[in-house]
This record gives sequence, C-alpha cells and structure tokens, in this order.
Amino acid sequence: MSEIFELTLTELAARLQAREITAEQAVQSCLDRIQATEPVVKALLTVMGEEALAAARALDAAGPDPEKPLWGVPMVLKDLFTTKGVRTTCGSMILENFVPFYDATVVVKLKEAGAILIGKANMDEFAMGSSTENSAFQATTNPWDTSRVPGGSSGGSAASVAALQCSGSLGSDTGGSIRLPASFCGLVGLKPTYGRVSRFGMVAFGSSLDQIGPLTRSVEDAARILGVIAGHDERDSTSVNTPVPDYLAALGRKDLQGVTIGLPEEYWGEGLDPEVEQACRAAVAAMEEQGAKTVPVQLSMTDYAIATYYIIAMAEASSNLARFDGVRYGHRNTEAEELVDMYTKSRTEGFGDEVQRRIIIGTYVLSAGYYDAYYGKAAQIRRLIRKDFDTAFKTCDVIAGPVCPSTAFKVGDVADPLQMYLLDIFTISLNLAGLPGMSLPIGLGADSGMPVGLQLLGPAFGEATLLSVGEVLERTLPRLPLATGL
Ligand code: GLN
Repeated sequence: MSEIFELTLTELAARLQAREITAEQAVQSCLDRIQATEPVVKALLTVMGEEALAAARALDAAGPDPEKPLWGVPMVLKDLFTTKGVRTTCGSMILENFVPFYDATVVVKLKEAGAILIGKANMDEFAMGSSTENSAFQATTNPWDTSRVPGGSSGGSAASVAALQCSGSLGSDTGGSIRLPASFCGLVGLKPTYGRVSRFGMVAFGSSLDQIGPLTRSVEDAARILGVIAGHDERDSTSVNTPVPDYLAALGRKDLQGVTIGLPEEYWGEGLDPEVEQACRAAVAAMEEQGAKTVPVQLSMTDYAIATYYIIAMAEASSNLARFDGVRYGHRNTEAEELVDMYTKSRTEGFGDEVQRRIIIGTYVLSAGYYDAYYGKAAQIRRLIRKDFDTAFKTCDVIAGPVCPSTAFKVGDVADPLQMYLLDIFTISLNLAGLPGMSLPIGLGADSGMPVGLQLLGPAFGEATLLSVGEVLERTLPRLPLATGL
C-alpha cells in the first residue's frame, strides 16, 4: 500500500469515508511528512499540529459524513486567508504577529465540508511576486529540485502539495499566482472567474483582480475543492449570486469530440522556451487525438497586458495597503514622536522592497496629474483585453497556451524586478478580463527535467468546461511521478 500522504485528495476522501483510514491517521501522516520535508522545502510559516490533531479526533469521534466532501482531509492555506486565532502574516514583517479574530469565508466553508487545516503557507509578501523569494521570512524551494523556485506568489501552497505535506491547498491569483506555481511544481491550479469565490477574509492585493482557488494533484481534487468554496457571500459584494454547478458531475467525459480549442498566436511564438513549447504542442496534439478541433484565435492586446496589469495592480495595492499604518494592524514603530513619523517609520520597517516599490508607483499613477495618462488609460486597455477574449470565445470553447515562458528557474536567477514581471505575460490578461483559467501538468521539460504546465482558459463561469476538458487530457497523458525523493 502506498503511504497515506501519497494518495490524491479524492482517493483519501474515499478511504476516510469508508473508515479504512481515520482522520487522525491522515493528519499524522501529513505532519510526519512535514517534519521530514520542511527543512529543505520551507513551504509553511505556521504548522497547526495540535489543533489539527484535535480536530481530527473530534471528526473521528463523530464518524464520517457523506455530506461532507472533504471530511478528514488535511489542507494548507496560503497565509493571506484570515484564520481565527491563528497568525496570518501575508509573508510580511508588518503582519508578523497578526492574529485575526475571524475566519475567511473560504476557511469557514472548508471546515464545514470537513477539511482539517494543518498549516499556513509561505508566499511572496502581500502576494507580490512570481517566485516566493519576496517573502519576508524564508524562500520556499521547489520539491522537484530544491535549487529552484516553486513559482509564486502561492509558492508555499504549491510546494506543500507537491512535497506531499497535504492533500490540497488554497492559493490566490491576482496575475497568475495560482497557475504559475502549479505549473512549476507539476500541479493542477485553478483560478476561478472573478466573483465565483468570496474574497471575504482574504487580505486584498488588487481587489478587482484577486481570486481564490485550489492547488491539487488531480483535476478531480480541484473540482471537489472548488465545489466547496464557490458561491455567493453577502459579506463580499463582488461575489456573484449564480448557482454553483456540480463540478464533479461535469467530469468523466469520454473524449474531446465536439470541443474547439483556440490557440492564440500571441502565446505560441517569440520568447517561449523550446522545451515549454514542445511539451505544450504535444499536449495540444493529444487533445486533437481525443477529437478536439483547434482554431487560431487572436489576443491582439497581449503586448500591452504587462503594462496594463502593473498599473492597475499597483494602483489597487497602494490603496489597499494604506490600512497598514501601525495603528489598526500589525507592526508599530515605538520611537517616533509624532503621528506622521510613526506612520512612515512603521511602514518603512514593516514593508519589504517590492511592496514599497509598488506602493510608490501605485500612488504615482493615481495622483491628480497622472491619473488620466496612466490609470485611466490602463482601464481602457483592460476593456479591450476583455473584448479580445469575448471575440475569441465566439469561435472556440477553451483557449490553450503555455502558463509561463520557462520552467522553474534557479533561486536568485531572476534578480531584476522587471524581468520577474515579464514571466506573467501569459497569465495576467485573464485576471484583467476576470475569466477562469487552469494550469495542468503535462510533462517534464526536455532540457530542465522540470514540470511544464498547459494553461486552459475559459469564458466567464466556464470552470466546469475547463475541468472536464482538463480531465480528459490528464487521463490521456502519462502521470507525472510524485516528488517523493526529498
Ligand atoms: N506575479 C504577479 C505580481 O507580482 C502576480 C501575483 C499574483 O497573482 N498574486 O503581481
């Protein structure tokens, strides 16, 4: 028998329901695995060992409940979801000792579904980054090769699942932060449609871009988690009040007959590493063998996506981060003698370089003299980016392309912030358009031997389509081995 921690979330959930494994055994297996792998992976900022074991024992005492799709399943959360009584740092010094007094809506929903939360995952500070090197506390490594980054900003959430420390995790995606680490770590990562999942209790970065989603080792696992966390929430006015489809029921289609896949010219050309292009083209060919038709589509605004995203994301961040002033939350400088000095010193000490850079640029693009030239213009381009997608989805059901131009790079190799921003070229348009996307592991790069992800993009609320198409591809391609060799 394989170790408990090697099971997918779906397999484990079934064994727990059948009482072949107890919740306590499941949690203990993950805690042991955490102990064995954390010294090199450094995925977690907080491990809730005692609380998790206590929760597991309580579940075992009550017995399995078939109404609870995540009953007894150990999960990890990116450290930007508020957890009642458990420190929530956002990867930042400014929140180093912040202990929230309430659970985020997604946390409430996971618990109601029977999940057991075992840890809070490392991340780029305030979700700003693509490698998890921007955390104020530690750099997480990639379980496939610990000299490389796991991707970001949900790098801890991804590395924890890939290192088999938990069955699945939640991340957040403002410009690719679920899909990119999923791709780098050989996982399924799903960014839902804007408004599909409540953001209440999630520390905001770019409020018009942020969405919460799962990172898992299978498509079915992702469908299971999404079904739990999706839905309207009166505490998040941007959460959409449309029924949540049965994502699990959407799975199991025989092949891809009748599915048309759009291939954006802009995603398949210049700048793409040959090993990524090769793996992605092979995956598209596999979908064609399953009966899918491919058509070229145009996402003609792609060249402007990075500039547009970084103006809007930084503008929103500068406004969202104004609340960290040393008074209401987190770190406060104790030497300052007057108020403004206290604000300045607390924020200077509490925020890292990347966060400060973004607050400064974000404030600039929103300032009276420059608003029209930058923020106003970016908002117009954003509209055109969405229009590109709307036009493309008139001729196809899903769009396919790479997640990132390269596979996971070595820690420290991308030192220039602008260079780091360019890695988001294939992921950020989707957030600007508010649409759903999924990264799917499709193989290992011929040169680096590191996982490669294919990105499937869908129309608004097309998550069920993405999952069902993705599952066929997952079944067709050889499964990646588990990163058990740590
Ligand atoms: N890499 C992008 C950024 O740094 C996206 C981050 C995210 O999705 N949270 O802003």
